Amino acid sequence: MQDLEQIKKDLVTASHIVHEQGLVGAFGHVSARIPNTETFLFPPRMSPALVRLDNLLVLDVEGHKLSGEGNPNTEFWIHARIYKARPDVQSVCHVHSPNCVAISSIGETVRPLHASGAILKDGVPVFEPITLIRSRELGDAVAETLGNRGAMLLRGHGANVADRDVRRACVTALWMEEAADYQLRALSAGKPRYFTVQELEHMYSQVSQEGVVNRAWEYFSSRV
Ligand SMILES: [Zn+2]
Repeated sequence: MQDLEQIKKDLVTASHIVHEQGLVGAFGHVSARIPNTETFLFPPRMSPALVRLDNLLVLDVEGHKLSGEGNPNTEFWIHARIYKARPDVQSVCHVHSPNCVAISSIGETVRPLHASGAILKDGVPVFEPITLIRSRELGDAVAETLGNRGAMLLRGHGANVADRDVRRACVTALWMEEAADYQLRALSAGKPRYFTVQELEHMYSQVSQEGVVNRAWEYFSSRV
């Protein structure tokens, strides 16, 4: 099991990375489950750029604040209800990635056509209702749309990534935005050749390896 202090450090770093890489501005949030509990570390109501080790809150999956100063971001229900539905998920990134939002608005979803995009091989469902996720019911609906996958879009709003640790969730959010960027470029130039199921499986087996994700984390974390 990962050390809680390291999880907190990774959560702060990931928050700064998603800001530095343009996935969020004033809004958006990254969280981490406290291992083997139904509680999670969550930033107070502020930009991910301003998250620090000493201002993290602890919430539970029923939406209660257990510790920390100030109110949580109002969309904490995204995190709470994904953790409730998915005991395997250790970290959730909610971001407002520009290319993902654009893809969600043209009746499309992110479909891999470049190497790192293969991390999304299980598909990226789209949550259709146009709303902020500010209730338990909406949080449950988001978790239901995500199902057993690792990433989803919120139409006209952003994206959620859920994964087995903070580093992987953060890197997947970055790769999904990169995939959406390439997809829009390809769509503007012609007919994209999306990866076939076989191509996806093959590329996934390569890019999903711990060493590849770690190398990406090493690079992105060096920028903040
Ligand atoms: Zn949002």
